[in-house]
Amino acid sequence: MILIVDDKPENLIAMRKTLESRGFQTDTALSGELALKKALKQAYDLIILDVQMPEMDGFEVAEAMSGHSKTKDIPIIFLSAVNVSKEFITKGYASGGRDYLVKPFDTDILVLKIQTFIKLSRMQRSLQEEIERRKEAENKKNEFISIASHELNTPLTSVKGYLQLAGLSLAKGKAEEATTFVERSKKQVDKLNGLVADLLDTTKIEAGKLKFNYTHFGFAALLQNAIDNISQVYTGKNITVTGASLENISVYGDENRLEQVLLNYLSNAIKYAPDSDHVTVDISLAANNHIKIGVTDYGIGISPDRQKQLFDKFYRVEENSHRFQGLGMGLYICAEIIKRHQGTYGVKSEPGKGSTFHFCIPINAQSEQQTDLI
Ligand code: ADP
Repeated sequence: MILIVDDKPENLIAMRKTLESRGFQTDTALSGELALKKALKQAYDLIILDVQMPEMDGFEVAEAMSGHSKTKDIPIIFLSAVNVSKEFITKGYASGGRDYLVKPFDTDILVLKIQTFIKLSRMQRSLQEEIERRKEAENKKNEFISIASHELNTPLTSVKGYLQLAGLSLAKGKAEEATTFVERSKKQVDKLNGLVADLLDTTKIEAGKLKFNYTHFGFAALLQNAIDNISQVYTGKNITVTGASLENISVYGDENRLEQVLLNYLSNAIKYAPDSDHVTVDISLAANNHIKIGVTDYGIGISPDRQKQLFDKFYRVEENSHRFQGLGMGLYICAEIIKRHQGTYGVKSEPGKGSTFHFCIPINAQSEQQTDLI
């Protein structure tokens, strides 16, 4: 949309007609003040500004516009029949105009100038947006580095502390106490190991290099392994398996990667439910020969507006991010693993009550007959 500013209605009508006949959309203002008001309200692509107007002349309008963030980048072309001397033309450019045309002028040339200025200003806008997006990516990267360093530093500091304590215990001849400290430091090393592995997986996903090793395997053993693993790390937590039997259910996939998904769901179910000691794993056979695994906790839950982003890279629910440690990579990696198994995933949750994270993957053709019997 082009704004035409002139105090003479006949000039406005003539210019409007000319530009609209060339396919431009136009708006008009009969004074400098009105032009300023309109430009602050609506986004114009270009302004054609008469120089000589009573009260606020064209130069004053251009100067005022250059002071507002909303209007400062709108290209202005001055038009004048009277002020044609070099002094006025200089003033026109100094006040922020892109061009200064003196009447009479060639309409074709005016149209070419308008097209060029509009094109240039669009290019400038998209470049600015691009710069902003860069800047934004840079800020995100810095924020991530700062969180990641903190997350890595915490277990590392603990390891250092426990090993010092173990050394002191040994010096005092208290071997049993020393063993306890070494055990504790081992847990922190495992945590570090997990963080570094997640970081590596995330980088591999980005590069399309996350490798999968597909085999046929029984799903029951995988689930039991995952539960045993988690129970060893989080003692005192009760994990119950309900639903369909997994006997004879074989899956064609990457066993370690699918176990990684279960471990992540289970450890989150424990982490985000600090006041509950119970987790349920529900198995069901879904349509089209799929198996569905749901992990339910009775923890803090997630509000509906946050649920969509949970599987995004580095996403963490902000309200809880200070209370619980993490980098927001686990569910992103899970999503990638499940997708690579032609599966689906999702969450159902109620704040304050708990969450169920599920995933659904195909049972391989080989086990089709067996599952029909279940
Ligand atoms: P992390 O736990 O390291 O932050 P995840 O990718 O595993 O990373 O999870 C992303 C976010 O999803 C978590 O930060 C948390 O806000 C939320 N979340 C995941 N699992 C649960 C759960 N069981 N209950 C509540 N919130 C959860």
